[in-house]
Amino acid sequence: MYEGNYLAQHLRAASVAQSEGVFAKMPDKSLVSYQAFFDGAQAFAQVLISKGVKPNDRVAVQADKSIEVLQLYIATVLAGAVFLPLNTAYTPAEISYFIEDASPSLFVCDPKLYAQLEPIAKRLGVLAVETLAADGSGSITDFSTLDRTEPFKVVPRDASDLAAFLYTSGTTGRSKGAMLTHENLWSNASTLKDYWCFSDKDVLIHALPVFHIHGLFVALNITLAAGSSLIFMPSFNADQIVDAMSEATVLMGVPTFYVRLLNHRYLSKHSVANMRLFVSGSAPLLAETHVKWQEKTGTAILERYGMTETNMNTSNPYQGDRRPGTVGFPLPLVEVKITDPVSGETLPIGEVGSIEVRGPNVFKGYWKMPEKTKEELRENGFFITGDLGMIDDQGYVSIIGRSKDLIITGGYNVYPKEVEIVIDDLDGVVESAVIGLAHSDFGEAVTAVIVVEPGVNLTEDTIKKALSTSIAKFKQPKHVFIVDELPRNTMGKVQKNVLRKAYSS
Ligand code: AMP
Repeated sequence: MYEGNYLAQHLRAASVAQSEGVFAKMPDKSLVSYQAFFDGAQAFAQVLISKGVKPNDRVAVQADKSIEVLQLYIATVLAGAVFLPLNTAYTPAEISYFIEDASPSLFVCDPKLYAQLEPIAKRLGVLAVETLAADGSGSITDFSTLDRTEPFKVVPRDASDLAAFLYTSGTTGRSKGAMLTHENLWSNASTLKDYWCFSDKDVLIHALPVFHIHGLFVALNITLAAGSSLIFMPSFNADQIVDAMSEATVLMGVPTFYVRLLNHRYLSKHSVANMRLFVSGSAPLLAETHVKWQEKTGTAILERYGMTETNMNTSNPYQGDRRPGTVGFPLPLVEVKITDPVSGETLPIGEVGSIEVRGPNVFKGYWKMPEKTKEELRENGFFITGDLGMIDDQGYVSIIGRSKDLIITGGYNVYPKEVEIVIDDLDGVVESAVIGLAHSDFGEAVTAVIVVEPGVNLTEDTIKKALSTSIAKFKQPKHVFIVDELPRNTMGKVQKNVLRKAYSS
């Protein structure tokens, strides 16, 4: 089915034989069959084409999570176009930047924002602006003018054609549009399906947002690739997730999911008895969370590492030792090396440097940014991820932080994570974020922002004193701030740029 369209053909293959099988169980307990899911996606593809969407055009979507958003992604692929999901938190000002940069031919937004966004989109040359609400209603779902008597014809696309285009979170400077091909997406889905042993017996709890690679590609593409089912949740809800565990087999989450689930009164060995796999990624999982989870449930969370530009690069093993604080081994077909940030030379085992990756998962480049692409994507195919890390003598990869978070103080390099680990180990500390702030003498001053347990009396002085004997003087924070919580984005990443801004004065 869908012959000639590389990604669509592969994503449909596993479910063709069991079309009446369940693709999704919805919050109201209704079931969506594979047949219904793909029929809907085809109808959307026809709508897109009727609105003027041509092969390679961008289809930009800023809409709350719904099964229709997933269908729109598949529809865009079927129409030979490029899916561009936009974070629902983006403001109209940000949306107008993305529309201007990506020049989509179609833009889908929430009906509540239509009056505000339609004139902007039209002014920027968008052919059609349509709406889609969280309940699945909206102008894009008007199929009344479609000719359903004609058999649907998929638009042919090759492995190297673009299928999706996602803006990176962009904590500094402009957001960059990462161009992902049909092969990028399929190679990763098929590798992960095998690596994590997915089958048509699996039922995945899907509570992640779908504007990000984790919920959209890792979770959805694997489900389709294996012909599994998913339990569809509009967002994270600990009660609903714990409830669903009795009929599910896999959960994919960001670390905050696991931290919150650990506080749930019904989480136990008994409640997870039916679950075979818990996957975490998109932000670092604290070793402490990993250990507590294992104690409470008897299962080890499997941590993996990926990014918008590459999908998944490494994973802890399905069979074997899932090591807390590491992101496991390079996936099959993916090469990972650690290089000197200045010379680019490969570093020996155990040394910290830039993480570079190469494989069929690595994107084609940044949209309309040839210079940026050249800086980060080497001619030999290795992508300089911007993450710092090391590989140990058994091949496990650990992430030490982002290269732009590296603090240079008085000429010395300080990896924030190294300091955070020591602070997190202090009695009464929940978590910490270490940042560099401009300093007239040192260039940058190591600064710690710390969350302490309620009722614990830790002050700047007591923390500085506790650290004075455990790490070198140049790594010790010059300033300490105690806060109630760290700012995080929807994917659970600590927003160090927000902290730098807040404390820069
Ligand atoms: P994004 O492009 O939004 O998916 O963000 C990718 C970045 O998230 C990576 O470059 C890493 O810095 C970080 N990241 C993803 N997975 C992990 C992980 N398991 N541990 C630590 N950092 C991670």
